[in-house]
Amino acid sequence: MPLEQALHTLRSVFGYTSFRGPQQPIIEALCQGRDALVLMPTGGGKSLCYQLPALILDGVGVVISPLIALMEDQVSALHQLGVKAAFLNSTLDIGEIRNIEQQLLDGCCDLLYIAPERLSNPRTLALLSRCKIALFAIDEAHCVSQWGHDFRADYLQLSILHQQFPNVPRIALTATADERTRQEIIQRLALEQAQVFISSFDRPNIRYRIVLKQNPRQQLLSFIRAEHRSDTGIVYCLSRKKVEDTAEWLNQQGLRALPYHAGLSHDVRRRNQHQFLMEDGLIIVATIAFGMGIDKPNVRFVAHLDLPKSIEAYYQETGRAGRDGLAANAWMVYGLQDVLTLREMLSASNADATHKRVELHKLEAMLALCEMVNCRRQALLDYFGEALSQPCGNCDACLEPADTWDGSVAAQQALSAIYRTGQRFGVSYLIDVLLGRSSDPRIKQFGHDQQSTFGIGKQLDEKQWRSVFRQLVAKSLVEVDFSGFGGLKLTDACRAVLRGEQTLMLRKDSLTAKNKAESSAH
Ligand code: ADP
Ligand code: ZN
Repeated sequence: MPLEQALHTLRSVFGYTSFRGPQQPIIEALCQGRDALVLMPTGGGKSLCYQLPALILDGVGVVISPLIALMEDQVSALHQLGVKAAFLNSTLDIGEIRNIEQQLLDGCCDLLYIAPERLSNPRTLALLSRCKIALFAIDEAHCVSQWGHDFRADYLQLSILHQQFPNVPRIALTATADERTRQEIIQRLALEQAQVFISSFDRPNIRYRIVLKQNPRQQLLSFIRAEHRSDTGIVYCLSRKKVEDTAEWLNQQGLRALPYHAGLSHDVRRRNQHQFLMEDGLIIVATIAFGMGIDKPNVRFVAHLDLPKSIEAYYQETGRAGRDGLAANAWMVYGLQDVLTLREMLSASNADATHKRVELHKLEAMLALCEMVNCRRQALLDYFGEALSQPCGNCDACLEPADTWDGSVAAQQALSAIYRTGQRFGVSYLIDVLLGRSSDPRIKQFGHDQQSTFGIGKQLDEKQWRSVFRQLVAKSLVEVDFSGFGGLKLTDACRAVLRGEQTLMLRKDSLTAKNKAESSAH
């Protein structure tokens, strides 16, 4: 491909002056008939990587995209650029479908978006085999991965593209880049020959902060008032009810907030999303149902009131902040209850054992990110296989380093208390035992006030003990037994600590200056 031609199309059709990041080599690879696997963070400019070659190469570029709304947005954006584009999905009636089929056969279409489930339809395959195809683009390619966070069974069918059209170049794109997902994409889509393009996932303008959950609503309000008084932002919550309550409460506090979750009617969701996109200074309070494909450049903050279930999810959700490259905040509150709730949801889900193990592993990585005392960005990028040589200077760990303390003895005391009381009691009971309080009648009843661990932990107060237990759970030295009543149990990993063979540095939850101001402001 003459570079001239690509640059000309870039300018005349898309109106950009130059390629961004690896766009040019990706486009060259496709135009030379090669396959490509593109790992690029959200907002990095993935669409151009297949849209432009589809215009240059003969025939139609077929784009597999999982989200109908996104598909429609892209097609209408392309129409505005004067590109001949169409989509085939379940919203069309038979007349409209026939019309598009005819356009394709006439060679009057440069880009065709289709939903993955349509590809297993013989009618679609028959149609495609009668057209000249420029390339296949598989968007959101991580959906093919069971390890990924968004598995879709329909994506497994996509290997058929390679079998039926071995000479058509394919490009798979995703913003999820951990090594296992990557390997699964390559294997399941038969992309062994593909050239792999990995962009940096760093979002240097986003400041990551994870603070201890105390009075989450007030903490949120103080954060917004102090730093984002009239900014656009997204607040994520786990449950629909919490979304609605939080949105209502923010409104009562004089902020403009709208709810968004899958339980709201289609119309309300559409309206709220539209308003969020069109106006500035609006806060959307949402479950994770909100966000895929949201491309609003000036979202100044993303706040989490609940812990995301994986680092991928955290990265995706926080990544919706600061698309314009200007400073933005990713702020989260996190506490013991989050860990317990997520673990409980996981153990109650009816997923198979392998899947649960994968999910648990991911949750643990997320917890480690919350509890860490070193640069969070380094850890985040490391998770995606990227090394950042220096601490970033733009996360809470860098800006306000957390104090640590040697928690080995406290951990031994806590672990013994769990063991001596039979590994079936929850945190509050265990703290009573450690502090030598017998307010819970069961303590006397079971004779736990007669044991050596009773009152052994008076050097710490209740809050500090909660912090110790949270960190023991987060570090998987202790697990929660959800088959019974949520009692704590020891894991194999705790042995070294229990025997005093391992020093356990814990994070001090003493409030940072900023936190103190936030929680005393009201
Ligand atoms: P992704 O799919 O990776 O999230 P998009 O394809 O939606 O990203 O692109 C993100 C933004 O970057 C869009 O607003 C797009 O118009 C813009 N963009 C893409 N490529 C370029 C370029 N070469 N020059 C300038 N802007 C670009
Ligand atoms: Zn940092």
